[in-house]
Amino acid sequence: MILVTGGCGFIGSNFIRLWLAETDEPIVNMDALTYAGNAENLADIQQSERYFFEQIDIRDAAAVAGVLERYHPRAILHFAAESHVDRSIKEPEAFLQTNVMGTFNLLNSALGIWNQDGQSERFRFLHVSTDEVYGSLGRTDPAFSEKHPYQPNSPYSASKAASDHLVRAWHHTYGLPVLTTNCSNNYGPYQFPEKLIPLMIERALAGETLPVYGDGSNVRDWLYVEDHCRAIMTVLDRGEPGETYNIGGNEERTNLEVVDALTNVLQILRPRSGGYRELVRFVDDRPGHDKRYAINATHIADTLGWRPEVDFREGLIRTVEWYLENRQWVEHVKSGEYRNWLEHQYRAD
Ligand code: NAD
Repeated sequence: MILVTGGCGFIGSNFIRLWLAETDEPIVNMDALTYAGNAENLADIQQSERYFFEQIDIRDAAAVAGVLERYHPRAILHFAAESHVDRSIKEPEAFLQTNVMGTFNLLNSALGIWNQDGQSERFRFLHVSTDEVYGSLGRTDPAFSEKHPYQPNSPYSASKAASDHLVRAWHHTYGLPVLTTNCSNNYGPYQFPEKLIPLMIERALAGETLPVYGDGSNVRDWLYVEDHCRAIMTVLDRGEPGETYNIGGNEERTNLEVVDALTNVLQILRPRSGGYRELVRFVDDRPGHDKRYAINATHIADTLGWRPEVDFREGLIRTVEWYLENRQWVEHVKSGEYRNWLEHQYRAD
């Protein structure tokens, strides 16, 4: 049995689906169902006998301890977080509560069950983090390696950096067998439409303007979510306790290049007279907007053999196709209906 936190979010739900498809091991999902948590992301696996759900807020230390005591997972994969940079600028407190205190609660409870189980050699605490903890790169700087100093610039990245440090300290001080992954921007199915790619898809399909921050020259590395999930499975399986693994797609793009590629794919899959490119508008830049992130993922490639399998264009096509084919999911998110989805399931049972 493994336990994930935040399994109703974008990456967590993709991970659970992959886990159930590719292993025989049960999985329990601990999620508070915040605005970003959508139980409908897992609609197709609700009936699996190997899937368990606990609606728990990781800010609640006693509740977290209770769930860990009950299931005694052999591994904990920590996805749950407040994850949207723009929200962190407007309302940073929730980011500190969940990303810092929530991680602290989990680490403490994980240490408790690990000690009870005689410090099992098999136990792992895998912390899912971001490349944003490293700060911003200049155009010609080498990509972030695991040795790059931490220089988080937004409330989101600062709170994730703090959580990375806690995880490291629980290893160094208490010996907890932890693994940390720092990944670049993910995209793919089930991503909440406040993030760049699904936001642009939805606005383009509605014929609305496509807002691009500043002059669109900020650079990010992009990784298809299934590749990220496979990297996490690899690190869980063969990663060295105490190690950090950077994960990336080797797909650096300016935001404008991303939007251009997306409008091209949309034009092929859902042609619009005049095309989608004319919808692009440049808007005021995000305060403190990091210029460039780039990931050097040679450590995970050399030591564990993981490499991305889906290139950016192929990933974009799969993503756009998914959003075109899953209009009900999108409509439920837009209308807020997704928040009642789980309740309706139980009523229907
Ligand atoms: P998301 O916002 O889609 O999902 C977060 C999930 O965590 C939701 O299901 C939400 O309900 C849950 N959650 C939030 N606060 C909680 C709390 N207090 N208690 C319990 N559950 C809570 O996020 P995501 O994009 O899937 O990201 C998952 C993890 O991966 C995060 O830790 C994020 O920092 C990291 N990450 C994301 C990206 C990316 O591009 N999305 C890249 C690198 C790393």
